Amino acid sequence: MAEKDDQEWGFATRAVRAGRRPTAEDEHSEPIFATSSFTCESAAEAAARFAGTSPGNLYSRFTNPTVRAFEERLAALEGCEHCVAFASGMSAILATCLATLKTGDHVIASRGIFGTTVLLFQNIFGRFGVDTTFVPLTDYAAWERAFRPNTKLLFIETPSNPLTEVADIRRLADLAHAHKALLAVDNCFCTPALQLPFRFGADLVIHSATKYIDGQGRCVGGAVLGNGELISKDVYGVLRTAGPTMSPFNAWVFLKGLETLALRMKAHSSNALDLARWLERQRGVRKVHHPGLASHPQHELARRQQADFGGILAFELERGKDAAWRLIDATQIISITANLGDAKTTITHPATTTHGRLTPEQRRESGITDGLVRLSVGLEDVTDLKADLARGLA
Ligand SMILES: *Cc1c(COP(=O)(O)O)cnc(C)c1O
Repeated sequence: MAEKDDQEWGFATRAVRAGRRPTAEDEHSEPIFATSSFTCESAAEAAARFAGTSPGNLYSRFTNPTVRAFEERLAALEGCEHCVAFASGMSAILATCLATLKTGDHVIASRGIFGTTVLLFQNIFGRFGVDTTFVPLTDYAAWERAFRPNTKLLFIETPSNPLTEVADIRRLADLAHAHKALLAVDNCFCTPALQLPFRFGADLVIHSATKYIDGQGRCVGGAVLGNGELISKDVYGVLRTAGPTMSPFNAWVFLKGLETLALRMKAHSSNALDLARWLERQRGVRKVHHPGLASHPQHELARRQQADFGGILAFELERGKDAAWRLIDATQIISITANLGDAKTTITHPATTTHGRLTPEQRRESGITDGLVRLSVGLEDVTDLKADLARGLA
């Protein structure tokens, strides 16, 4: 858990300096506190820390200075009071649900969300009596119709995975609040460098730090951000009691990742838009999904809501799964892996990997066709990426 600080600085300065607290050793780079517990001066001090009346560290399940530095820096970038780091993006989503829902509650989530998040809501929370309705991300009438008296949480990703649909965060926040529900935004695809959901009324922001925050595919981690006791008491309480803790080493990697985040997001966005425009002109490509394209149905909204369009794109091949697999297998540079947000460009066939556990019906509803290929565009020379894809398109 972290208090916000340094909000008067610009984004780039916060990304490099927020949360920095040099120790008595005067180190310049933030240290890794590889310790599971912390000592106290006296029995009285130990009692005070356990009671919460003294602020010192106790035990790294819930207090570690390296993790705290990461939390403070990310909170400073999203522009909110508190951040709680977690062991993974999924445990951040799990903690959000455990902190805000109880048996008998109802959730509305968008259809295009990360496949594992769908399974978390349906298979795990379904067993505990929490019902989830899935609606198309941009069909606002469907969101309105889905409300029940017990609806407590709205959950979205924007842009969505893998079709990059863009939701109007302000509109969904207003809708949630009119029904006394909370809006949670999984901000994994944009990161705070490109999108600040709190400015549009979101109540909770969730991250898989595994993706762009790390940016080089090394560590798994996540975070939940927001204001007030919702985060400092409820979400933090889940971490402290249930223990899906981020390791100090991973926190240090993510902390360093934040220092270059804005630069990387700019380069990912520019490479992706270049590739998307090029793909639109290739034979055998039926459709390209990227918010930066004028052909994207929410292009104007993305312009207003985001600082840039991001590094993810998807495209549909006319000849279905065989053509998609052939294209993937013909690549020599691009990595075949489901991870995204890496400096290395990655390629995925969603229908048989990330969305493979969904039923064919669910895949159809989510627009995951057999010919769909997703690219997480990395930081290589875009000319080399085009040549790599051209081989499989030929
Ligand atoms: C990867 C991902 C997650 C899950 O994060 P992990 O760190 O893999 O647990 C959640 N949401 C989105 C949008 C993701 O891409």
